[in-house]
Amino acid sequence: MKIAVLSRNRKLYSTRRLVEEGVNRGHEVRVIDCLHCSMNITSANPAIHYHQQVLEDFDVVIPRIGASVTFYGTAVLRQFEMMGTFPVNESVAITRSRDKLRSLQLLARKGVGMPVTGFANKPDSVPDLLKMVGGAPVVIKLLQGTQGIGVVLAETRTAAESVIEAFMGLKADILVQEFIKEAGGADIRCFVIGDKVIAAMKRQGADGEFRSNLHRGGTASLIRITPDERRTAITAAKAMGLNVAGVDLLRSSRGPLVMEVNSSPGLEGIENATGKNVAGLIMSWIEKNQAPSRTKTRGR
Ligand code: ADP
Ligand code: GLU
Repeated sequence: MKIAVLSRNRKLYSTRRLVEEGVNRGHEVRVIDCLHCSMNITSANPAIHYHQQVLEDFDVVIPRIGASVTFYGTAVLRQFEMMGTFPVNESVAITRSRDKLRSLQLLARKGVGMPVTGFANKPDSVPDLLKMVGGAPVVIKLLQGTQGIGVVLAETRTAAESVIEAFMGLKADILVQEFIKEAGGADIRCFVIGDKVIAAMKRQGADGEFRSNLHRGGTASLIRITPDERRTAITAAKAMGLNVAGVDLLRSSRGPLVMEVNSSPGLEGIENATGKNVAGLIMSWIEKNQAPSRTKTRGR
């Protein structure tokens, strides 16, 4: 097969591993930087130009679109879909999962457990917003944040009110969420491919840190997940329409709660923590499922 890895940087671990596994299996794999793609949007003959060259005949596109290039990256992916290339994750599914509010609403509709979450554009009453999520302690999240930046634990009502007011003053969009204390500064990353969780790791925050992000000094280890956790992760990925997803769960006293569904889950942490060949498993899934024009939406 001819495979495009849509990634801004061929040196990234995840990109390198996908290329390596693809080539090992006899596929032709090219890394394409979406920002260097220009597109001809016509009904008869949609095309993508890349460094003055026409991109043609790709069987598969593996999107690895970073959060900062979501808008243009998904446009390029849509163009591949219009040309009949099989996307490992569809553009609409990526767009869905990148919108924190939209994804939480979709998960809620499917009955997936999640921390009680409140959102307001301009709350007339901050105390009312806090009451809605059960009062302090609460976690306050900047909607634009990644890697744990802009995620704040407010232990008291007064702290929560000042943080919310400060973020509002900066015109930032925020979520206010029930704090899941019993998670103990840990979360679980479930790596979903198709309708299976193929690997799972526990990430534990550094001492005294409630955020488990590896970028914030957290450590990852192999973990056995429960059938309930497995089911929850698969349902969450399916609700987004993602074939490959990283589903982040918190272990709570009322069962697994989904925090986030990632459409470009990193491979380095999970391969190192579990010793599994995750890139190879993605390739196997592609080999079984690839077919021309097999998207639900073809970019619509
Ligand atoms: P990001 O997308 O920036 O990583 P997250 O929403 O995943 O932000 O939050 C970062 C970390 O903070 C999570 O991995 C988790 O360990 C912790 N965390 C987030 N929300 C909660 C919560 N409601 N209760 C307890 N811990 C939380
Ligand atoms: N690679 C990061 C992760 O899986 C996030 C990528 C994204 O923005 O989807 O944690």
